[in-house]
Amino acid sequence: MTPLTIRMQPKDNVAIVANDGGLPAGTVLPDGLTLRDAVPQGHKVALVDLPAGSAVLRYGIPIGYALKDIPSGSWVNERLLQMPSARGLDDLPMATHKPERLAPLEGYTFEGYRNADGSVGTRNILAITTTVQCVSGVVAFAVERIKAELLPKFLNVDDVVGLEHTYGCGVAIDADGAEIPIRTLRNISLNPNFGGEVMVVSLGCEKLQPERLMPPGAIPINDLRGEALDVVCLQDEAHVGFMSMVASIMKTATQHLQRLNLRRRETVPASELVVGVQCGGSDAFSGVTANPAVGYCTDLLVRAGASVMFSEVTEVRDGIDQLTSRATTPEVAQAMIREMAWYDAYLARGRADRSANTTPGNKKGGLSNIVEKAMGSIVKSGSAPISGVLAPGEKLKQKGLIYAATPASDFICGTLQLAAGMNLHVFTTGRGTPYGLAEVPVIKVATRSDLARRWHDLMDVNAGTIADGTQTIEEVGMAMFLLMLDVASGRKKTWAEHWKLHNALVLFNPAPVT
Ligand code: CA
Repeated sequence: MTPLTIRMQPKDNVAIVANDGGLPAGTVLPDGLTLRDAVPQGHKVALVDLPAGSAVLRYGIPIGYALKDIPSGSWVNERLLQMPSARGLDDLPMATHKPERLAPLEGYTFEGYRNADGSVGTRNILAITTTVQCVSGVVAFAVERIKAELLPKFLNVDDVVGLEHTYGCGVAIDADGAEIPIRTLRNISLNPNFGGEVMVVSLGCEKLQPERLMPPGAIPINDLRGEALDVVCLQDEAHVGFMSMVASIMKTATQHLQRLNLRRRETVPASELVVGVQCGGSDAFSGVTANPAVGYCTDLLVRAGASVMFSEVTEVRDGIDQLTSRATTPEVAQAMIREMAWYDAYLARGRADRSANTTPGNKKGGLSNIVEKAMGSIVKSGSAPISGVLAPGEKLKQKGLIYAATPASDFICGTLQLAAGMNLHVFTTGRGTPYGLAEVPVIKVATRSDLARRWHDLMDVNAGTIADGTQTIEEVGMAMFLLMLDVASGRKKTWAEHWKLHNALVLFNPAPVT
């Protein structure tokens, strides 16, 4: 076995060990350096003597400061590093970096469902919106009946999903921040995959009344047809017995299924993709293999005129100067700072900061702290200029590379990207997670070949070939782009779709509950 280490930037004074299983003490690296310690896969080795207090450089920036003298060849882990403090939000470079304009990428298309509002779906799904958790059991019961009895009659409809959540009552609905879960739920109901066919199941007495969730004018297709919001209310006096409620939901669903069944895929340009990228269960390879390949793919998508969202505030916070400098205008940079400041304050309320992000698995995978994790996470955004910023739960209305501010929590990030209008999701993982969503296809990318081998029927792309040296970042990125077009067209299913694996929607509610 040839010892293999990866250094990201020439000035880095650490490299990570790429070999499966790591390398034992005494291993002589190709450049002659002898390992003083055993170094696990993905973990860092000191390439030079690092005196106490000196900066440990990865991705060309200090990811920490040595807490004691670290001789060359040592294993550099989180116990030996002092984490740098977060960069302040003042005096940031604002839209200073003017990258060379990327050449347009033309001629790529997919087969999608064109909606009345101009958006394009990648799946044809009936979504049943709920105002409150109280109705979830009833809706789940009705959804099973719809799947068994109605879907076989509507062969063009892929699925039916109940938009279950824990919000809606027992909450301070007028408190600061309550607008976030409310607009998130509203905008999820309008996701392009649902064809504008909004139906709502309400309990009746809940705080989040249907008219508050979906005020007049919220549903473009209803305005076109002159229709009012379609609500089944369980406390309605017309209902006598549980079966009456179920029958009412099924009757309403039938009307929407009839219209969804008329949808047909048509050839649309790749610019109609709205891709949300995120990572979860990251390791030190995330920033070496999968995320750079996603970044290359992000550039391809932006060149093709599509929309790409990257998110996860705590995982970009340490690179805020990179992001504000890449903004197309000072206003966009300012919006980014606004979101970071909001999140800093949100964390501070719980006397936490961005360092609360890293998990035991991240550390086991070689990521010492959030600074190192963030540098590897940000590369998902590629190199395109950042042309817009979304606050949590807002709906995307523009093309290009967008910073959609969300927590890094996989479920909350995915839920907020759904609300923004994502029609395809890309998820990178190093430790491995079976993550999926019922509402959009999720393409999962493994950072290591070992994970891709073991989870061969869960991972859609193996970016570990980049560390193995058998594929380049560009090759994996291009393959990912072509896979996206196939998945968006319904020609291919993701593994999560194949097994019907999906996680719960989790609304981000920064406001108090009562
Ligand atoms: Ca995440």
